[in-house]
Amino acid sequence: MKYSAVKYCDIANGEGVRTSLFVSGCRRHCPFCFNPDTWSFDYGEEFSQQIQDEIVESLRPRYIRGLSLLGGEPMEPENQAGLVDFVERVKREYPEKPIWCYTGMTYEELLGRCRTEATDRLLSCIDILVDGPFVQDLKDITLRFRGSSNQRIIDVPATRAAGQVVLWQGDPDFAKHSM
Ligand code: SF4
Repeated sequence: MKYSAVKYCDIANGEGVRTSLFVSGCRRHCPFCFNPDTWSFDYGEEFSQQIQDEIVESLRPRYIRGLSLLGGEPMEPENQAGLVDFVERVKREYPEKPIWCYTGMTYEELLGRCRTEATDRLLSCIDILVDGPFVQDLKDITLRFRGSSNQRIIDVPATRAAGQVVLWQGDPDFAKHSM
């Protein structure tokens, strides 16, 4: 698997100060995609042991709230396979630090036609899933942590326990996920 960027001390892609990993490869090709350079699976650098170790180390300070996964498309089959061992390692080493994942697929698609051998392992580690494609007609710059109103911020552990989608509530001051 390749990745296009790692942002340290990122405050835009999830709650708090985070390390964000942008993986390469996305077949969806949404109009007005925010990151079309990353559509190619060959774009960027190899996701080597060295960068994995660097990311894990970056999560150590108390002020770093957690890891965010973006793309490209982290849930493309190749990227699920490329991420799963690493995500399990992060969960093992920092069980208290929430993992966010941004995907253009819906949660229902991940359980259906987009499911791979790695999907259940990934979903058991991911705390928050921001799902669905970016839709330009539904763009709303007042939304917190997402670009268009069709996208949902899903509490994955609660969703798996309930057997139906449970939206993340987060800070009560931001319960509507808008500002
Ligand atoms: S799913 Fe994300 S990375 Fe892929 S085309 Fe859509 S906005 Fe771009």
